[in-house]
Amino acid sequence: MKITASVAFTGALVLLLAATSASAQLPLIHPVTPRVDAIPGDAWLCAQVATNLEESTLLGRAILTRVQGTLDERTSRIQFRRGGARLGEAIAAFAVESNDGVIYVSDSTDGSTLLHESIHAAMARLTPEDAMREVTQILAADSAGQLEPDLVDLARRSFTLSFTASANPELWGLVPMVLTSAAFSESSTAGTFARLIHATDSAAVTLEGNISKGWGRATIADAYDEAATIHWRYAGLSRPEWWSWREERTFRLVGEALAYQRARRCAASD
Ligand SMILES: [Zn+2]
Repeated sequence: MKITASVAFTGALVLLLAATSASAQLPLIHPVTPRVDAIPGDAWLCAQVATNLEESTLLGRAILTRVQGTLDERTSRIQFRRGGARLGEAIAAFAVESNDGVIYVSDSTDGSTLLHESIHAAMARLTPEDAMREVTQILAADSAGQLEPDLVDLARRSFTLSFTASANPELWGLVPMVLTSAAFSESSTAGTFARLIHATDSAAVTLEGNISKGWGRATIADAYDEAATIHWRYAGLSRPEWWSWREERTFRLVGEALAYQRARRCAASD
């Protein structure tokens, strides 16, 4: 696929590298059958198109408020910035920088894209128990084949972008290849997400990460460990002892599936 070409990755990774905790969103293209569980009215917000940063900020704040239920202090501090060429393959991204949320947007951004990033922002503040509940449900749905295949594919590709961004830049061509072949491995009947988890379990501790530690070059797992620290600091909760880099990795994978799923439901709820 085009997305796995190393040239296509590089542009997106420049931005993602700047913030270890960034998550990327790819274009959501395919319309689907309407679902009944979306709140009426949200569809209108999701269908709006912002054509500059000011409009993106206005629309984004309205959507953040719907997602969080209220525009509290932490949410109101989320900034909107132009991602510009740095977004590359991605069309938007949520990142935590200096303990505040930032949503990077393209010049033109629609409401469902802003909803996707708002879901990331909201998920970053879940309690550990609520976070694990989401993880369990999505992984079970994937294993049971209950997730729409193209949604799984979008989540896989967004996760691969972020995982690759956690690697030493010299490996940016290799990492997507490794993860993509693992996802399509014929030798397993596991769900796509289970395969990705299995593949990243070994790749993350083997491959060099994009952060250095005093004793030398650290691994991708160390980069996720760092991202977990940033995540829990942003949540304003102490990081649970059992929340290792693996939980952070899996939470981010599941977060992509949830963000695409909810944005799709919103867009289809008209
Ligand atoms: Zn995303």
